[in-house]
Amino acid sequence: MAGRFEVRGDVGIIWIDNPPVNAISHAVRLVLVDGLKQAAGNDAVKAAVIACEGRTSMAGADITEFAGGMKEPGLPEVIAEMDRFGKPLVAAIHGTALGGGFEVALGCHARVALATAKVGLPEVKLGILPGAGGTQRLPRLAGAEAALPVMISGDPISAEQAAGMGAVDKVVQDNLLDAAIAYARELVGQELRRVRDMPMPAVPAGFFEEARKATAKQKRNLYSPQRIVDAVEAAATLPFDEGMARERELFMDCLRNPQARALQHVFFAERQIAKIPNLAADVKPREVRKVAVIGAGTMGGGIAMNFANAGIPVTILEMSQEAVDRGLGVIRKNYDATAAKGRMTAEQVEQRMGLLTPTLSYDDLGDADLIIEAVFETLEVKHKVFEQLDRVAKPGAVLASNTSYLSIDTIAGYTKRPADVLGMHFFSPANVMKLLEIVRGAQTAPDVLATALDVAKKIRKVGVVAGNCHGFIGNRMLEGYAREANVLVLEGATPQQVDTALVKFGMPMGLFQMMDLAGLDIGYKSRKDRDPASLHPYAYRMSDMLVEAGRMGQKTQAGVYDYAPGDRTPKPSDITAKFIREVVEEVGLPQRSFTDEEIIERCFLALFNIGCEVLREGMAYRAGDIDIVYLYGYGFPAYRGGPMFWAENSIGLANALDKIRGYAAAYGDRWWKPSPLLEKLVAEGRSLKDAV
Ligand code: NAD
Repeated sequence: MAGRFEVRGDVGIIWIDNPPVNAISHAVRLVLVDGLKQAAGNDAVKAAVIACEGRTSMAGADITEFAGGMKEPGLPEVIAEMDRFGKPLVAAIHGTALGGGFEVALGCHARVALATAKVGLPEVKLGILPGAGGTQRLPRLAGAEAALPVMISGDPISAEQAAGMGAVDKVVQDNLLDAAIAYARELVGQELRRVRDMPMPAVPAGFFEEARKATAKQKRNLYSPQRIVDAVEAAATLPFDEGMARERELFMDCLRNPQARALQHVFFAERQIAKIPNLAADVKPREVRKVAVIGAGTMGGGIAMNFANAGIPVTILEMSQEAVDRGLGVIRKNYDATAAKGRMTAEQVEQRMGLLTPTLSYDDLGDADLIIEAVFETLEVKHKVFEQLDRVAKPGAVLASNTSYLSIDTIAGYTKRPADVLGMHFFSPANVMKLLEIVRGAQTAPDVLATALDVAKKIRKVGVVAGNCHGFIGNRMLEGYAREANVLVLEGATPQQVDTALVKFGMPMGLFQMMDLAGLDIGYKSRKDRDPASLHPYAYRMSDMLVEAGRMGQKTQAGVYDYAPGDRTPKPSDITAKFIREVVEEVGLPQRSFTDEEIIERCFLALFNIGCEVLREGMAYRAGDIDIVYLYGYGFPAYRGGPMFWAENSIGLANALDKIRGYAAAYGDRWWKPSPLLEKLVAEGRSLKDAV
């Protein structure tokens, strides 16, 4: 049983008890219906309360049920039953009442919440909308203006905020159940406050048009937020039952839209990432109370901020006083900017700065539990640093490198404790980007890996474990994407056409915009360090010419694009166009035009094919892990599910393989050799899910 019915004096209590989060399973729905029936049929019962056992109210639907279809009664029918219930009905809310859990509360005649409770309608995050009356009832209680942002953002709000907008009737500090029972008794004898019968508060003229525009901007390309606006408009313009019918229609529209499947994939993939094969469940992470960061440059500063934000003290080591002053200065500027936006107090800025201790001496690192190196990207420099770390770090300290491409095993070999070494690869800006690639070296100890995963959670990063290979998961795959984008502009597409296609597809910016932002010199330098035979013969020639002409990107106000002073808007550049023509002539490349679709397929199938290799080699544990890397590290649109999900679901594996074979025929196996894993999956008619 997922709950029970209890009579306490003249009040019936419908208890929900479905650990761990009281997800609204079929059994829970039956408990609700049965409780209502018993309360209705018992003359001694004058009112009823819906309360939940455990740490939280109903935290949402049981989304594992989505796939197989809902068993009757569905939640809308259960809530309709609540509407037919003839006695006062009060929801007691603690923990988080989310999605269907909040809709059940909205179906009651009153809501009493613990002050620590949160409520919300997060359906939008799964590409759908509240489908059990939430879009009709919340606006009746709170008005469309307050209700809409709750549904469009999907973020939970506090009990106080909910009370402020009229969605919660009473907030209590403790004794929730007693308060709910008392409230229910107060309502006995009064007219029932059915939300369905409440008049909809007036909506300002033009409100929905404005809301559609604002939503289109804020939730670019997303389908369900617009349908949420439609549903709330229905609440404002139609009688309740017609509004409910409209909500159902719109809900089904969302469910049928491919975005919903993609977002659900993301939801599950994100929950999988912490499951690490060959890592026993009883492995305990090491304790991390103090951290040290080596290098206070672009990455080191951001990395240090993550720990300061989590209240963990950080010692920052640099080569010179000047460098460390500059590094701390940038951190302070970042915090001040946040404070200026009102998202932090001046005191908090000082508190966080107070957690950062600069040093020039390795002898100050002896008490650090975790040391993260973020110095220049060369093995010589890393070698020197890790030798020093080996000398001063206490036994058991975890030694991490933020290297983008270098071998973690080589770096571990610079110490006498390779088991304590691993990669912690942050993404720029490190204090903002959610992704942390955790690179497991050949000798990395299980508890060191567990420590990095634990640290990722503490600093609110999404930690994905990667194997040790050139570029790990994300940057390794990026090479295929960057290569093809660069070749496309040599075959007749322009950088702006490629970027526009990528942005339309949903990327936050185009590849060439990204290169200009990061600095073209970064790729240039890394190519100089590589064996020329490992590089595409002409893909990067335009980039090299730009750097050699002093065009490094935004920082020099000229890169692939031109920039006006103080303006980050990319403008097509004649010089870039000239360089492209020169390469085209020199290599003798035929010119043609490209559709946006071709551009996307060429870029992302190249990336996907390498993704298959990453999987085949065991450098990622699951295709979903790769998707998470691209979502949180590179801004791949979540509503497309990630590059692996996109290739499988939007293109189809067999079709993708055909296209890759076609490219191989045109451009050679060297760059387009189909991944044997992809060939095998297609031959056997299996899915990427089977590639574990
Ligand atoms: P950066 O040049 O901005 O900073 C490097 C800092 O390290 C400089 O402040 C320098 O003074 C300091 N440094 C150099 N040698 C040192 C030494 N021996 N001891 C102490 N300090 C030393 O470089 P960055 O962009 O922050 O990159 C650092 C590392 O992070 C590299 O390995 C890079 O590949 C990696 N990374 C960079 C990015 C990015 O987007 N910039 C992203 C992920 C990873």
